[in-house]
Amino acid sequence: MSTAEPSVFSRIVAREIPATIVAETERLIAIEDIAPKAPVHVLVIPKTEAYANVVELAAGDPGLLAELVAMAEGIAADRADGQFRLVFNTGESAGQTVFHVHAHVLAGDLQEGTLAA
Ligand code: AMP
Repeated sequence: MSTAEPSVFSRIVAREIPATIVAETERLIAIEDIAPKAPVHVLVIPKTEAYANVVELAAGDPGLLAELVAMAEGIAADRADGQFRLVFNTGESAGQTVFHVHAHVLAGDLQEGTLAA
């Protein structure tokens, strides 16, 4: 269920607030994270805000989750060596702050401590 207010990511999709867009398809957008934690730190975001987290996305639209993973792989291939860490914070106590599903693509000489995003 969507909240009354559009999420920050929906506002980026609508071009209401600025972001550095890395890739875009009919159903996905990828942007630079505003507070990068790794040499490559890109968020891959379904344009719909129907899914709050990856569990809901996997249950509701597994094909869209597969598209998201493919976009993440392409970004890591373009910007690093093709190897990457894909993080979905799921729930407040796991560090999720935006309840519109998004994947953190972390790549490029990751330090061992870069487990979180
Ligand atoms: P999470 O904590 O997993 O919900 O991730 C939210 C991420 O969104 C954080 O890494 C933030 O730095 C990032 N973020 C929040 N607002 C923006 C914005 N306007 N543009 C780009 N990234 C953002």
